[in-house]
Amino acid sequence: SAPSPGPRPLQLPDVFIAVKTTRAFHRSRLELLLDTWVSRTRRQTFVFTDSPDEGLRERLGSHLVVTNCSTEHSHPALSCKMAAELDAFVTSGRRWFCHVDDDNYVNPRALLQLLNSFPQSRDVYVGRPSLNRPIHASEPQPHNRSRLVQFWFATGGAGFCINRRLALKMAPWASGSRFMDTSALIRLPDDCTVGYIVERKLGGRLQPSPLFHSHLETLQLLGAAQLLEQVTLSYGVLEGKLNVIRLQGPFSPEEDPSRFRSLHCLLYPETPWCPQLAAQ
Ligand code: UDP
Ligand code: MN
Repeated sequence: SAPSPGPRPLQLPDVFIAVKTTRAFHRSRLELLLDTWVSRTRRQTFVFTDSPDEGLRERLGSHLVVTNCSTEHSHPALSCKMAAELDAFVTSGRRWFCHVDDDNYVNPRALLQLLNSFPQSRDVYVGRPSLNRPIHASEPQPHNRSRLVQFWFATGGAGFCINRRLALKMAPWASGSRFMDTSALIRLPDDCTVGYIVERKLGGRLQPSPLFHSHLETLQLLGAAQLLEQVTLSYGVLEGKLNVIRLQGPFSPEEDPSRFRSLHCLLYPETPWCPQLAAQ
């Protein structure tokens, strides 16, 4: 049943975490997330993909959402998934929508702490700005004209969150097939489209947060103590080199190339597959 809104502190069940994935990454990326942070947020996390998968269905049940979106890496295919995520959030009745990619680690404690810091009376769109300046888009106008508009957006690869009151206001440009129409209109990807709707259609503002991270930034720069406080982390390749967080262990880079398993053991040392500290 839907949690009832009210001035009580936010709890994890109030949050809807949408993970975007695709068939090609079910084994190579999703399994890692299910073994690590998703094991702590099973009831909050919904995985949006483009292809059925019995193995994933067994582990996720109704939290695996097989969309009708194409498996292509195209703007429409990615916008199709974002639309499905937003629609499912609205239906869920929860208080916060958070989107992440399948190469993100989410720290639920840090996430909750961040979301709890916002007043409930405000519209909130929080994430990491993709660029150090606003993006420009050409907005079609009547009579074959267009105008240049500027806005900020949160990079999808670092994750971002939107509260319910703002998500409901986005519906005229975001619900059902409208999100794909909006994205096609400005000819920009899904994460830019979210920023466009919030900032240009609703007059809102992206609330920048340094606690969200994608593999487009140098992840090694984060200190060991900082790592435990970040809302999201990531891994990937940057300028031809492996870009991962810097962590001593407990697993070697060969065993744990993303470093997510090692991070998970630091956050949750009691996890059965984490090396147990000698205790008699
Ligand atoms: N993705 C997708 N369909 C595709 C390719 C990628 O849904 O055809 C998803 C992928 O699962 C991930 C996100 O889009 O959640 C970003 O993909 P990736 O990390 O491969 O690329 P990036 O843009 O970060 O370089
Ligand atoms: Mn990525």
